[in-house]
Amino acid sequence: MPHAPNPSPDPKIARDLKTLAQFIRIYCRHKHADAEKSVPRIKGFDYAELGIKPPEVCGACARLLAHAFVKRAHCPFKPKPACKHCRSHCYQPAYRQQIREVMRYSGRKLILSGRLDLLFKLIF
Ligand SMILES: [Zn+2]
Repeated sequence: MPHAPNPSPDPKIARDLKTLAQFIRIYCRHKHADAEKSVPRIKGFDYAELGIKPPEVCGACARLLAHAFVKRAHCPFKPKPACKHCRSHCYQPAYRQQIREVMRYSGRKLILSGRLDLLFKLIF
């Protein structure tokens, strides 16, 4: 996506997108081990520009990733509150359910330090 008109990404948003991509990738790798995977292209987002390792995920996880990216990038609150304390509930219910499962699953796999735990709480 070389023609993305976006200005440089906000570092806080980039960090959250990176976490989302990482969590969804881990989840998909374990939970959907046999599914065919590819790196989803999400309109308006450039992995390289965001400093994100392109995530290889299955079709279902690609849709979740796209939804999560768009919602995070368009969150109107600055700073973004933890989603569970937010009154806006911008996720569609099915995606909300999925992302919570992803965060729980991958978070548990990733919690090696208090810092990751904090990151996890900040996002969901
Ligand atoms: Zn998957």
